[in-house]
Amino acid sequence: MTNTSGDDATGRDAREAVKRYGREMLEKGLTKATGGNVSRRTGPEGFAISPSGVPYPEIEPEDVPILDLDGDVVHDGKKPSNEVDMHRLVYAARDDVGGIVHTHSPYASTFASLNDPIRPSHYLIAFIGDKVPVAEYVTYGTEALGRKAVAALGEEYNACLLANHGVLAVGDTLGSALETAEMVEYCARIHYQARAIGEPELLPDEEVDHLREKFADYGEER
Ligand SMILES: [Zn+2]
Repeated sequence: MTNTSGDDATGRDAREAVKRYGREMLEKGLTKATGGNVSRRTGPEGFAISPSGVPYPEIEPEDVPILDLDGDVVHDGKKPSNEVDMHRLVYAARDDVGGIVHTHSPYASTFASLNDPIRPSHYLIAFIGDKVPVAEYVTYGTEALGRKAVAALGEEYNACLLANHGVLAVGDTLGSALETAEMVEYCARIHYQARAIGEPELLPDEEVDHLREKFADYGEER
């Protein structure tokens, strides 16, 4: 499979990105302690992923393993994150993805526990799609969970909820995947708040399509 538009990083840059954006995910309050995980594509056939159980501020580039899309370790680090199969299957399915973030951010995880997609009540949802869909529940750390996430993302969505669990966000780089994870949490919070005091007014499909075109142009300028 060739990489068409997902941005590749060298192994060294990918390990640095995992260190940097893992820490940012924590600092932005999208996860706690060693929860969640991040990865960065190194080429058509590989990716660097955060190690399992290492606190984000303590991750050093040499701790970050690099794997191929069969799940075999190419460059040693510490033990890969327990969601390694989910990351692997998303890279295999989506050539446009160069970075992946998995969080347990609280407002988005609330909708995940309701098995309720986040609807387009705020225009920023168009960064993700016409909604944030929900992947069916499967036990964490399994290949089956990866398959459900791939199915929910399809070709179009830049994020999905994982039922009763959390969030998966993708981007052309790890930085843009983290930005998407923040958008998911923000849209979830606004939708939650709007539902708490009233019935949110949803944006019509045509407007969401229009916004998606505008954001695609904006993405190219970044
Ligand atoms: Zn998780």
